[in-house]
Amino acid sequence: MSSIFTKIIKREIPAAMVYEDDECIAFRDIDPKAPVHILLVPRKEIPSLAQVTAEDKALLGHLMVKASEIAKAEGISESGYRVVVNTNKEGGQEVYHLHLHILGGRQMTWPPG
Ligand code: AMP
Repeated sequence: MSSIFTKIIKREIPAAMVYEDDECIAFRDIDPKAPVHILLVPRKEIPSLAQVTAEDKALLGHLMVKASEIAKAEGISESGYRVVVNTNKEGGQEVYHLHLHILGGRQMTWPPG
């Protein structure tokens, strides 16, 4: 089932775009939890990390490379940042379209809430 991220991908609703290519898009989170909070979303509709298969191997690798590049472009690579994939209910997932959160610009704490 399509989510709000599909509407952003199809440009049916606006978003503060940061990056896009044939496989993914990145835009700023509407409710940022850090000075830099970007969502990196594959165009392919995969509900969560729990549904990926070996077929998605290249796509998942692509997302990690892009996360690293976006962090560099945002100026948070050296200081540090966190990449989070909330997965299903106990993982705190709200939007069921796979996405990476790229969070930075402040000190992160551990363990996460
Ligand atoms: P998750 O809990 O991992 O599913 O995260 C979903 C994220 O999407 C949350 O951080 C929301 O603030 C964010 N979000 C929801 N709707 C929008 C939107 N229209 N534009 C940008 N970010 C959104």
